[in-house]
Order: sequence, then structure tokens, then C-alpha cells
Amino acid sequence: MTWLLLLTLLAISLACAFYGATLLVWTGTMAAGIALLALTGAVPWLSLAIVTLVFAAIAVPLNMPSWRRQWITAPFLAQFRRMLPDISETEQVALDAGTVGWEGELFAGRPDWNLLKNQPYLDLTVEEQAFLDGPVQELCGMLNGWEITHRDADLNPETWAFLKKHRFFGMIIPKEYGGLGFSAMAHRAVLQKISSVCVVTASTVAVPNSLGPGELLVHYGTEEQKNHFLPRLARGEEIPCFGLTGPTAGSDATSIPDYGIVCRAEYKGKDVLGIRMQFDKRYITLAPVATLIGIAFRLYDPDGLLGGAKDLGISLALVPRDTKGVEVGRRHMPLNLPFQNGPVRGTDVFVPLDALIGGIELAGQGWRMLVECLSVGRAISLPSTSTGGTKMAALATGAYARIRKQFNMPIGRFEGVEAALARIAGNAYATSALSRMTATAVDLGEKPAVPSAIAKYHATEMAREIVRDAMDVHGGKGVILGPRNYLGRGWQGIPVSITVEGANIMTRNLMIFGQGAIRCHPYVLKEMQAARLENPQERVERFDELLFAHVGYSIRNAVRSLVLGLSFGKFAMVPHDRKTAKYYQKLSRYSAALAFVSDVAMLTLGGKLKQKEHISARLGDVLSHLYICSAMLKRFEAQGRPAADQAILAWAFHNAIYKIQVALRLVIDNFPNRYLRGLLRFVVFPFGRREKAPGDRLTHKVAQLLLVPSDTRDRLTRGVYLSATSNHPIQFMERSLPEVIRAEPLERKLLKALKHGDIGGITWEEQVRDAIDKSVLTRHEADILARVREMVTEIIAVDDFDVEELRLGRQPQRIGKQHAA
Ligand SMILES: Cc1cc2nc3c(=O)[nH]c(=O)nc-3n(C[C@H](O)[C@H](O)[C@H](O)COP(=O)(O)OP(=O)(O)OC[C@H]3O[C@@H](n4cnc5c(N)ncnc54)[C@H](O)[C@@H]3O)c2cc1C
Repeated sequence: MTWLLLLTLLAISLACAFYGATLLVWTGTMAAGIALLALTGAVPWLSLAIVTLVFAAIAVPLNMPSWRRQWITAPFLAQFRRMLPDISETEQVALDAGTVGWEGELFAGRPDWNLLKNQPYLDLTVEEQAFLDGPVQELCGMLNGWEITHRDADLNPETWAFLKKHRFFGMIIPKEYGGLGFSAMAHRAVLQKISSVCVVTASTVAVPNSLGPGELLVHYGTEEQKNHFLPRLARGEEIPCFGLTGPTAGSDATSIPDYGIVCRAEYKGKDVLGIRMQFDKRYITLAPVATLIGIAFRLYDPDGLLGGAKDLGISLALVPRDTKGVEVGRRHMPLNLPFQNGPVRGTDVFVPLDALIGGIELAGQGWRMLVECLSVGRAISLPSTSTGGTKMAALATGAYARIRKQFNMPIGRFEGVEAALARIAGNAYATSALSRMTATAVDLGEKPAVPSAIAKYHATEMAREIVRDAMDVHGGKGVILGPRNYLGRGWQGIPVSITVEGANIMTRNLMIFGQGAIRCHPYVLKEMQAARLENPQERVERFDELLFAHVGYSIRNAVRSLVLGLSFGKFAMVPHDRKTAKYYQKLSRYSAALAFVSDVAMLTLGGKLKQKEHISARLGDVLSHLYICSAMLKRFEAQGRPAADQAILAWAFHNAIYKIQVALRLVIDNFPNRYLRGLLRFVVFPFGRREKAPGDRLTHKVAQLLLVPSDTRDRLTRGVYLSATSNHPIQFMERSLPEVIRAEPLERKLLKALKHGDIGGITWEEQVRDAIDKSVLTRHEADILARVREMVTEIIAVDDFDVEELRLGRQPQRIGKQHAA
């Protein structure tokens, strides 16, 4: 009976913790449980008395705020203040800049799936769709990737003119200023389609629509600046670029040494107050052709001409290209993807004060302006271009793996190639769902700081994996560059995507979890703010409130993680769907595990967690894969749960869940404190690590989906450029694929007859003639085989060149001089 009492109280406590009951509710429920058992008279009075006393000893002080504050909260607060990480002004700005959406639910351990279900699955407006089917389709048909990348090292003049005429550079500029005023979804669709044909053109279009003069002016420009510049930018009369990075300031962008001094000087014949700037920027996209150069620099006012601080901080100015002292025009060559990119330097460049974006009121606010806008561009540009590239790689590699035969079999039937094909399909599904979800967040008015970092990192990393697999499957055909090669430039371009907009190692290690944890956590940021309050009384009261809510939250997540681990997620509240319920259950389980492990890490490591990049990167991986899985489930539901797509969803989902398990395992196995290691292992993996990577049967099923035209394959690759008329190699392959498949039985018939000695001949032509003579094939069948053979010959062909054709480039001057010396 004593056991009954203890078990009842344990069950009550677990249930309260699992459902996140408050301290008061737990106290009341426990007291009621003890009273009920006492009334039954079944429990010996001594046991009852001991349990009641122990319970009262815990519950009463905890429910007395003044006692609690003095004996628990105050000492803890003192310790907490010592561990508090230093948050620099720039980090604080970054933390304040974004909003928290679905990732907050995943981070907090109890995702409300109804929120995801009710999130709209946005589509394009009629006007946006018309733009995609009209100018974008036409543009894609104009692009010749080989000429752009090898012969011209630039878009041709017609393409530049077309882009300007149709306002491709003004997609994010509101209509009232002459731009297209597109939604994030439309912006995504345009970049996706262009990047499926030509990465150089996609980068050229992406940059003016991402962080730079256009976006900064829309958000912060003075009315005068907006009225002057935005229509000109929208029409392409001004080509913008934005210079933040310099030789010594890369990832650590706030360390820019570039500066401007407030002073008076003569400008356009008048004596005006302005800024004399010195700057040295590199890697600046569009700089060689830019007419309007955005520059980030530190602004100083040593003579107090503005009447405020001497060091005003990072500021942003618009400098016309023709300003005296500005030096642009030379070009970098980013891995054979010659989009316009180069250095920008300025010596004694004088601009009036109204060159500051937002005017003098926003002097010193540059870093805040940049981080506020960064998340929006990062949520769209690279995730969308990666999606376009990955979809095209999936389409082309599937077709090629069916068309290319070795050992008398389509190479896509070999298990080794199947593994690559399944990864391509699964990653393409995930990338697309992820980029759609972050674009949706932007359209819903969020500033998705953490999702944009997740999308930037994972979309580009998945694209890297896909293009690597695609190259492997294509063998030599992928390696030999030329007009027939549709993969090589994508392969070369991936490190560029990995590097820009926050290099990936730093994005993974520092930004996703580092910022995500503080931003998404329901209490940590508030606790940090409370701990810094000036008034001691107010500080302890506010901190106490948060601390006990936080303790309840941690207990809830520990219990949920354990219970969901023991029950394989069965107790989680998830949508009741036969096909997908188990997926939601797994996500609920690992969401609780992430919340619990993150809390333990933050509590025990405090400010040191910032340096423990292994831990934060792995926890960031868990958050990212939970987010990606949610995006995939949303996509599956919104597309009407197509049964034929289920294998790809299953592959991508299990692949992600397996990665979650690996990440959590590595966090736990490497946790600095060994007692906590044991506790974490028990709570997170009570039955051990049971998740498995996608199995061979599933891999086979998914790989085969890429080899045959189908609705699933169309859905997977929807949004890439395809045209019935163009003779681009991928289009040609797509058109040939059905015929190649139809010819396969005939090829088998021919081979069988040859093997059995029913027909003979040395060359293929002789064998076919013999097959017709011996009625193995009809003449019509022989014609089909001949036509398909011709198509296949064209598809597997690669380019060759005269030596002169390969010597198109002139050696850069500086290297030439060195060699001469
Ligand atoms: C083709 C191209 C186009 C670009 N366009 C522009 C543009 O238009 N405007 C502009 O201002 N900039 C632009 N950039 C600059 C780009 O944003 C920077 O290259 C990027 O920020 C990284 O800086 P870095 O190259 O100096 O690398 P570094 O900062 O030297 O970094 C090197 C490596 O160290 C890692 N690292 C650094 N700090 C940390 C950390 N704390 N934790 C973990 N890892 C870390 C990085 O992830 C990276 O892997 C462009 C760059 C390229 C290559």
C-alpha cells in the first residue's frame, strides 16, 4: 500500500510535468492525491505521515515567494550573474533584429502541430505567375551558359537590356516606386527557375534583390532618397552593389576598418557638411558594373560638427560610382562563375551627409539596419538558387542514369548509383520544402533570423551533396566542360554559395543555435535581461518568477523526452493520420529532447557555450532537421498527401531523423560532465539509439522514381526551366527519355537473340540487319532502335576544342608582371 501511495504520487508528478502544469497545480493535485488515499484508509498511517511531511517540506517553501527568493533565487541569481555571457552591442542588435516563428515551437519542446497545419501554403498571384511564364521563361531561353561562363565572362548586352527592361532588378521594390513589388514566394520562384539554367544570371538577379541599396532604401531611406533612387534602381538605370567585406573583415564584419570623418568640403561648387571616406572592400558582387555603391563604414565626428558622439558607429552610405576617389572596375573570378564581382576602393571620397541611408538620423545605426534586412535576403536568395540547381540536377541525373547504359544495363539500376539517386531525390525534396517554408515566413511578415540561417546553411549543403552525387553518376560526362555540360558550373559554384551571406562553418557553429537558443528559448533572454536590472528588489522578483517558470519548463521537457522516448512518441499530441502520425510523434519526441539538452547545456556551460562550437553546432543540427522535417510534412499535406510521393518523404524524413540522433549522440557522448552525460543518455535515449538510416529497399524505391517520367518526378522538379522548343541538353534528354524507355524491351530482345546465337554480326548495324532478316525485329522496331541510338549518342557526347578556343582569357596584368620578373 505504501508502494501504491508512492506510485500514485509519482504518476501525478509525471503527468503534471508532462503537461506542463504550474507549481500551484502540482501542489494542489498532489495534496488531493494524498488526501484521497488517506480517505480510503488503505495506506498505513505512518507511511502517510512521512510522505505528507516530505511533500509539505518541499511544496510549502516553494509556494512561498519570499522564502523562495531569499533562499533559492538570490544565491542562484548571484551565480547566474557571474556566468552571464558577455553580449556585445552588435550581438544584442543581432538578437533583437528577428522574430520567432515555428522554430520557437520546435525549440521549446512541445510543438503545437495545429499552428503548422494552419499556416497558409502560399501561391503566386496571377500577375506573378504571368511574369514567370512570360519574361522569366523568355530570359531562360536566351541564356547560353557556356558563352556566358567561358567566352564572354559576362551576360551579353541583350540579356542585360532584357533584365533591365523587365525590371528583374526591382522585384522587391514596391510598385509605387516603379518596382515589381513581388512576394517572397514569387521572388523565390524567379530565382529558382533562372538558377536551373544559369547560375551566373541567377546571382546577377539575386544580388540587387537581396541585401543592398534597394532593400535598405525601401526600409530606411528618406522619402527624398526613395523617390530619387528606387525608380532608377527598378528600371535598371542604376546598378547597385553593397560593400561590407574587406581584406581584414570577412566573417567578423563588424571589425571593418573602413571609416568616414565628418567634415566640411566643397561639393558641386558649394561648401557643405559631409563625410570624407576611406575604404577598401573586396568580393563585392556587381561592383565592376555598379553605378550606385553602398558602403558600410565607421563614422567619426572628431570635431563635434554633428554635436553628438565622436564615434557614431557603423553607418551606411550610397556613393555614386563617378565620385572622385572611388576606384572600381577590376574583377575577381569566383571559381569560373564570372558574375560581376570585384574590389571597390575609396581614397578621400567626399560625400554630403544626405548620402547616408536614412539621413543623419540613422548615422551609426548601420549594423542594426544590416542585420534586420539580412535575414530576409538570406531566407530567399541562396535557398532559392540552391533549390533551382538541385531540382535541375535531380531531373537531369535521373534521366541520364536511365539513358546511359553500362554492362547492358541503365546505370541507375546498379545499387551503388541507386544510393546516389536516392540521396539526390531526398535532398531535393527537403531543399525545396525548406526554401518554401522560409519564403512563406517572409510573406507572413516575419523576420526569420534563425530559419534563414538554417535555410542558407542546409540548402547550400544539401545542394553540395546533390551536385557531388550528380557528378559521380555522370562520370566523365560531368567532368568535361563545354556547351554540353550542364553540371560542371554548378559544381564549381557550390563553394561560392557556401561562402557568401555568412560562411557555412560559422553559420552552423555560431548562428543557428547560438542565436537560436537565446532567441527561441522562452526564458533565457528574459532571465538575462532580468539579471541585469538595476534595482536589486525588482531584479530578484522578476528573476524568481522566470526562474521557477524555467525550472518547470525544464522538468516538463525532461519528463516529456523520457516518456516519449519510452513510448516511442506515442503520448505526443499529433495529427491523427495513419500515414504521417508516427513522423509527428518522432518530431515531438526529439523536440522535447532538444529543449532538455539545450537547457542542461546552457545551465551548466553558461557563457562558455559560445566557445563550445561542437555542442552548439550539433544542437543547431537537431533544430535544423526538426525544422526541415516540419517543412517536408507541411509540403506533403499541402500537396494532398500524394501516395506516390510517400517513399521520398519517408527517405528524406528518416535520413533527417537519423542525423538528429547522430547529433544528439555526439552532444551527449562529448558532454563535459560525466554525471550529466549519464543523465542525458538515460532521458534522451532510454532504449538506446534505435533510429536507422533509410534502408536499402526504400533507397531502391526512391531511386527508381527518378528514372521514369511520373507525377512524382514532376512534382519533385516543378519550377525549373523546361521548354518544348529549346535544344538545351537537359531538355533534349527529357524529350528523349520516354522513347529510350519504350525502346528498352527491343534492346533486350536484340541482346537475347545475340546471346543465344540466333543472330550475328560484328557491328551494331550488322546485328540489327540480321535481326530483321531473322524476324527477331520488325523494320519499324529497328527504326525505333536506330533513332534512340542516335539520341543516346548525342546525350552521352562531350565537347572537344581547338587549343585556340581554350585560350580565350588574357592573363591578368599583375600575374603577367610577376612572371616577367
Ligand atoms: C563570390 C563572392 C561574392 C561576395 N559578395 C559580397 C558582396 O556583394 N558584398 C559583401 O560585402 N561581401 C561579399 N562577399 C563576402 C562574403 O560575405 C565573405 O566572403 C564571407 O563573409 C566570409 O568572409 P571571408 O571570405 O573573409 O572568410 P573568413 O572570415 O576568413 O572565414 C574563413 C573561414 O572561417 C570560418 N569562421 C570565421 N569565423 C568563425 C567562427 N566564429 N566560428 C566558426 N567558423 C568561423 C568561416 O566560416 C570560414 O569557413 C562575397 C564573397 C564571395 C566569395
